Amino acid sequence: MLKLAVFGHPVAHSLSPRIHSLFAESLGLAVDYRTVDCPAGRLAATLGGFVAEGGSGCNLTVPLKAEGLGLASSCSQAAREAGACNTLVRKGRCWHAENTDGAGLVADLDRLGIDPAGKCVLVVGAGGAVAGVLGPLLDRRPAHLCVVNRDPEKVGRLIQRFFRKGVDLKAAALADGPDVEGFELLIQATSLGHQGECPLLDPDWMAPGAVAYDLNYGDAFGPFESWCEQAGLRCHSGLGMLVEQAALAFELFTDVRPATAPVHQEIDAGALAP
Ligand code: NDP
Repeated sequence: MLKLAVFGHPVAHSLSPRIHSLFAESLGLAVDYRTVDCPAGRLAATLGGFVAEGGSGCNLTVPLKAEGLGLASSCSQAAREAGACNTLVRKGRCWHAENTDGAGLVADLDRLGIDPAGKCVLVVGAGGAVAGVLGPLLDRRPAHLCVVNRDPEKVGRLIQRFFRKGVDLKAAALADGPDVEGFELLIQATSLGHQGECPLLDPDWMAPGAVAYDLNYGDAFGPFESWCEQAGLRCHSGLGMLVEQAALAFELFTDVRPATAPVHQEIDAGALAP
């Protein structure tokens, strides 16, 4: 029995145990994946207890992603660039850190037939999630990518870590908006949806036929979904990203890549709701 878990605070609401159980069932693997409530500053001690009980891998969510990276002895390029990890895998007596959020987003965009290559992409937000997705998004070679954020200094600092040859990467204050228009892909990555709100965005920033993606899902997706409806934009929630990043983590835990289509079908059928 493989002992896995997701650590976070709060974490009781997490869909990860259900998603990982579906992967395990589909592959006939014996996996015990649970939630562990762990406030910031307590990760080292809580992980110690988890290992003592036979834990061999875990996912990390808010507020533990940077703390987890600090406890790891090795990490992937994605985790290093993000300055955070969402996955820890036990290697001997040490932890290896990975960040599958960005690869998960890109995999979900692929599933939805949305290709950032050569496009003008607007990202809203500059928190931990954007730090995780920016590298893999830039690796898909958009022509231009602008990140807008309420705190302009924070977004200015963030993009300095993400140079990619041939990609025009810019930052701007959300209040000012981007200095060009015609964005073809809009990625909403603020946490405002959890307060029932949507950032103040101008539909004129977008090109005709543009598509939108919200990292949020469930109730937190509602406000942005309504804004997209009014703006005439097709939009998707981040539930697909959650499934795809989980599949990549599951592969790191088990060395087997699970098929994600059956889980997306369960979501579409309403059987896996946040
Ligand atoms: P952070 O707390 O690190 O960042 C929050 C972001 O929201 C910042 O850019 C912040 O701006 C912005 N923000 C918060 N309040 C306001 C406001 N009142 N007005 C304007 N901007 C605001 O969160 P994360 O980056 O970790 O997560 C962002 C969202 O993505 C969350 O809702 C999370 O649930 C979701 N997520 C989804 C995943 C998935 O798999 N689908 C994976 C990871 C995250 P500022 O910097 O100015 O404070």
